[in-house]
Amino acid sequence: MQLPALDMPVFQPGWVWLAGAGPGDPGLLTLHAVNALNQADVVIYDALVGDGILRCARPNTVLEYAGKRGGKPSPKQRDISERLVELARQGKRVLRLKGGDPFVFGRGAEEALSLREAGIPFRIIPGISAGIGGLAYAGIPLTHRDTNSCVTFLTGHNASGEVPDSLDWAAMVRASPVLVIYMAMKHLDILVSKLTHAGLAGDRPAALVQNATLPGMRVLTSRLDRIVAEAQAAQMAPPALLVVGEVVDLHAVFGSSDFQAGLKASGSCQAAS
Ligand code: SAH
Repeated sequence: MQLPALDMPVFQPGWVWLAGAGPGDPGLLTLHAVNALNQADVVIYDALVGDGILRCARPNTVLEYAGKRGGKPSPKQRDISERLVELARQGKRVLRLKGGDPFVFGRGAEEALSLREAGIPFRIIPGISAGIGGLAYAGIPLTHRDTNSCVTFLTGHNASGEVPDSLDWAAMVRASPVLVIYMAMKHLDILVSKLTHAGLAGDRPAALVQNATLPGMRVLTSRLDRIVAEAQAAQMAPPALLVVGEVVDLHAVFGSSDFQAGLKASGSCQAAS
């Protein structure tokens, strides 16, 4: 893909570039990510990186999936890191492409540490995180001066796949008027009950945003005490973010179809020929 006449870095053989692909709409790739896709020999990608983005790789790029597929267990993080090292040692230009931003709940730090340990040169290319850009597409601004001067991002899974128990939920709920929860679906009921026990009122506005920025984006707005039942009824599914706070009410304005037309996803790259 053509890039503006910027002095973009050359992808050297034997390097790994650890890049974020944004939440899904290819139009949200950064120029650095496009520059990487233009030069990579091999792209190791995660489940959250869709075809629309992979089609932006140059022809003949090897695309290697590093997630769960066809019921097979997902490769261990160590295996993925070892694969990156192996390919880099073969002299490949290795693009490790992750959904959103690699350093936001994306295990990018773990992979970068492994590369460092193995002495593989790498660079980090940030991406637009789903909890920021994805919510904007859903018509939910993260801040508004009338309602909040702080936002908290948290994950619904810890390393063992459970709701994090090391968090001080009560302190978090007291301190932060807006919460954005990644990986919200698996334990939605537990998350909601943790928030409620921590002191959040049942009538707090809450929303789930599924497939943000993609053509199949779905937004469910509700209240904390109803969202579990409504999510079940609407068959909301991962990947989805849970947002709790008054900013959710602005979805009524910014989520309107007029506004959404202006945010139309950019479609995808033409299939490589
Ligand atoms: N590094 C990623 C997050 C990876 S964790 C980032 O910065 O966005 C995976 C979680 O991200 C999903 O469970 C979901 O909560 C969220 N997510 C990623 N892409 C999403 C999308 N297009 N729509 C909704 N949620 C998304």
